[in-house]
Amino acid sequence: HWSRICERLKAEVGEVEYRTWLRQITVGPVEEDEITLYLPTRFLRDWVRGQYGDRLGTLWNAEVPAIRRVELQVARPTADAAQAAPEEAPATPSARTAPSGKSAPRPAVAPVAEEPRPAEVRTDLAAPLDQRFTFDTFVVGKPNEFAYACARRVAEQPSSPGFNPLFLYGGVGLGKTHLMHSIGAELVREGRVSVAYMSAEKFMYRFIAAIRSQSTMEFKEQLRSVDVLMIDDLQFLIGKDNTQEEFFHTFNALVDAGRQIVVSADKSPSDLSGLEDRLRTRLGCGMVADIHATTFELRISILEAKATASGVVVPAKVLEFLAHKITSNVRELEGALNRLIAHANLFGRPVTLEATQDVLHDILKAHDRRVTIEEIQRKVAEHWNIRLTDMSSARRARAVARPRQVAMYLAKQLTSRSLPEIGRKFGNRDHTTVIHAVSRVTGLMAEDPAFAEDVELLRRMLES
Ligand code: ADP
Ligand code: MG
Repeated sequence: HWSRICERLKAEVGEVEYRTWLRQITVGPVEEDEITLYLPTRFLRDWVRGQYGDRLGTLWNAEVPAIRRVELQVARPTADAAQAAPEEAPATPSARTAPSGKSAPRPAVAPVAEEPRPAEVRTDLAAPLDQRFTFDTFVVGKPNEFAYACARRVAEQPSSPGFNPLFLYGGVGLGKTHLMHSIGAELVREGRVSVAYMSAEKFMYRFIAAIRSQSTMEFKEQLRSVDVLMIDDLQFLIGKDNTQEEFFHTFNALVDAGRQIVVSADKSPSDLSGLEDRLRTRLGCGMVADIHATTFELRISILEAKATASGVVVPAKVLEFLAHKITSNVRELEGALNRLIAHANLFGRPVTLEATQDVLHDILKAHDRRVTIEEIQRKVAEHWNIRLTDMSSARRARAVARPRQVAMYLAKQLTSRSLPEIGRKFGNRDHTTVIHAVSRVTGLMAEDPAFAEDVELLRRMLES
């Protein structure tokens, strides 16, 4: 019965959830209409009871109609399982475990409990690692190479001086979580240490749950028993003073004991206003690594890597188009590419630029922000280091006139404004001045590759 129930549970909750929470269940005796199930720790028992208690009851009842209730208890069912479980949970078999008569079945070990436990990831405590996020699948470029190198270093040599804590920060969707999971995956692969990864939100949730169930000591001990603790999106703790306090103590206890901490946030420690000063200070004490916004080059590399991995042929033209259009973050870029790939697979059609524009219509629209003439003027003035007012001034010195012509040229290229409209925005100049500027810039670009490159660069910046 139990193995059938296990199969159903696995199908319902997925392999990861199943392995994390349910695999450690062993079956105890049936008494009247009640079956007892054992879990190795109180923590696991409470979790399973809260999350799956009702479902377990229903499934048992469907298998064995006489069973109407499921009792969950803490116990170490076998020597093997006891070894696998790291917690010092007291073996407290209830009175019911002792067979009171021949009718009580002996506790049977669930078939799944004999598989080796993925012992090094503390899934009892933290979230399981996402298998897709490894160093191998992380594409390195200028904006993230420092953070990547730091992460690698920590994975190779946790708790090395200068790298503890490792504080990763950067905007949303730029790879912080990916790097943290990579550290975990690497350490687990090496099989040397116990790793716990969780979001700050989960940390808070666990902490509050522990207070409610009066098991804060257990929670603290679990946290303090890991070799590497990774907390993602720490900004979540802003304004959550009690949880911050708890994290601060955990942090200190671990670092003092020579354990490694990895933390991520959307801002640098000094910019995380709303976090306690002493916590911010300690967070900044190790290595602080910034993940910058992606560049066009990095976006192309990421798209190439992901397209190759998918096995679908995506023409370079399409990759370039996406890298130009979707500049916000890697997550969105990935989402767009995934959709293209799904379409190609579903309909068996090749990926083309036309198909891309069609399939990603909604995404592209959201990213298709119209460039304004003011923006063009500002960027161009910045680029050649002239004053913005000179875009509309009467000055004719070449140092000013040339950038002004470029701005007119780009306004013609990148906006749908008419020549007279453009002229007006440049100090009420005549439309023939704009025509002249466009042909002048076109000519110069043909003659002077360095100049052409400058203009192209500006165009790219404005388009993204
Ligand atoms: P963050 O935690 O910074 O918000 P994530 O780590 O969740 O961002 O990254 C968002 C998505 O983009 C993930 O699917 C991740 O695998 C992918 N990603 C981000 N950076 C890279 C990179 N350099 N190489 C490959 N994939 C990346
Ligand atoms: Mg993240």
